[in-house]
Amino acid sequence: MTRTPTAPQPLRVAIIGAGPAGIYAGNILTRAVQDAGGEVGIDLFDSLPAPYGLIRYGVAPDHPRIKGIVNSLHEMLDAGTIRFIGNVAYGTDLDLADLRAHYHALIFATGAIRDAVLGIPGIDLPGSYGAADFVSWFDGHPDAPRDWPLDATDIAVIGNGNVALDVARMLAKHPVDLLPTDIPATVHAGLAGSPVTDVHVFGRRGPAQVKFTPIELRELGDIPNVDVLVYQEDFPRDEHSEQRLAASNNQVKVMTRTLNGWLSREPTGAPRRLHLHFLHSPVEVYGAGRVEGMRFERTEPTADGGVRGTGEIIDYPLQAVYRAVGYRGSALAQVPFDKARGVIPNDGGRVVDGQGTPLPGLYATGWIKRGPVGLIGHTKSDALETVTKLLEDHDLTVQPGRPAEDAILALLDERGIRFTTWSGWLALDAHERSLGQADLSTVTRERVKVVPRDEQVGIARSESLVVS
Ligand SMILES: Cc1cc2nc3c(=O)[nH]c(=O)nc-3n(C[C@H](O)[C@H](O)[C@H](O)COP(=O)(O)OP(=O)(O)OC[C@H]3O[C@@H](n4cnc5c(N)ncnc54)[C@H](O)[C@@H]3O)c2cc1C
Repeated sequence: MTRTPTAPQPLRVAIIGAGPAGIYAGNILTRAVQDAGGEVGIDLFDSLPAPYGLIRYGVAPDHPRIKGIVNSLHEMLDAGTIRFIGNVAYGTDLDLADLRAHYHALIFATGAIRDAVLGIPGIDLPGSYGAADFVSWFDGHPDAPRDWPLDATDIAVIGNGNVALDVARMLAKHPVDLLPTDIPATVHAGLAGSPVTDVHVFGRRGPAQVKFTPIELRELGDIPNVDVLVYQEDFPRDEHSEQRLAASNNQVKVMTRTLNGWLSREPTGAPRRLHLHFLHSPVEVYGAGRVEGMRFERTEPTADGGVRGTGEIIDYPLQAVYRAVGYRGSALAQVPFDKARGVIPNDGGRVVDGQGTPLPGLYATGWIKRGPVGLIGHTKSDALETVTKLLEDHDLTVQPGRPAEDAILALLDERGIRFTTWSGWLALDAHERSLGQADLSTVTRERVKVVPRDEQVGIARSESLVVS
């Protein structure tokens, strides 16, 4: 950085991560600077060729309403004030010194894509999978394997949050009902070959302590040709549970009503069943060389709002286990990282070192800032907080060495990095939509995702005529 006494230059900011957090940060920053009569140039980098982060590669394909949030994010990027630069990985293609040389400030919005650990014996047996990997597969993430082993009739899903419900629903749903979604053909073919009959979702806590949201829970009851089963013994009527329910918020009351309704519903004899079990604490995954079952200890509610083991052991014979016990952020090169929480340590968005001292010009937002909890909407308030700090701090008299807009693109070209741009994404987007229209298997396919990275980049850069 050099200190220049000349007239202020436009603020140059790099945002790393084009998920919702990064896009909201770019939009809020643009508006704030423009409203103050200033100028800002924002480059939004992502390691993937396409924008939208977990909206494209996390949100389940049968949730088009949520995926529709991309429409407003699209408008923010299409306004031309934020420059999308895809297929560029921070830490591999560009490092901290590169970015510091080109920008006044950097905002890390790299999210979380790995599974949190579930430390029980047998969790690494063949047939045991992380939800994040499965989600990446069914959402067509370019770095996920193309095939997924779907050979189990009885499957456990561990966790009582919305990701567990997404995984259970995707496993239990009849593939024909997924045809109208954007799933790649390979995913549809994989699901069509699945012999699954029973998907069991297990939670450690009671039905009044689930972390689902009411819409996601209710949706289970509407899956065609799938019975939802809950069990009376998982609904304790003890004083602690009753007190907790009475003190709970409306969401919990609504969900408790939904669950109680299923208690009295007769199964229809559907070929697939989705079982919800509560008060089951995972003990081990067992099997000789691969998953053959899972052992749980029954728990009971305690006065402090938790649960404790009762000593009662219950075994379920199964052939596959999916752990949906949370996501985890990954460390970034040359940026502090809190290993225990899986986040970049920060003070309201200002990245801090081990002593809590802010590192000038470095900011964080979204899941990498506060951990992998919360909905897309929460990343907006995150972004506002981070951008507010950035604007309080910035000092335009300190110039980066190479502030010219095209300098970073020249560097990427020099390094032979096949970056994608916003117009490239528009081309890929149009291509995916045309694949959807060409698919005559159903009349309402909005898009079919292109999966391989090379193919996405090729279409986005118009490098070759790709037939998918
Ligand atoms: C399975 C699943 C289902 C969900 N369903 C819903 C839902 O239905 N409704 C809802 O509101 N919320 C849902 N969420 C939550 C929602 O996805 C998150 O709140 C949101 O995506 C977090 O935004 P983010 O921008 O912080 O992270 P992300 O969306 O993860 O975006 C981070 C971006 O950073 C990029 N990146 C990472 N590392 C690098 C690097 N080194 N260099 C360059 N780029 C990098 C990634 O490629 C990614 O594009 C779901 C989450 C999951 C996991």
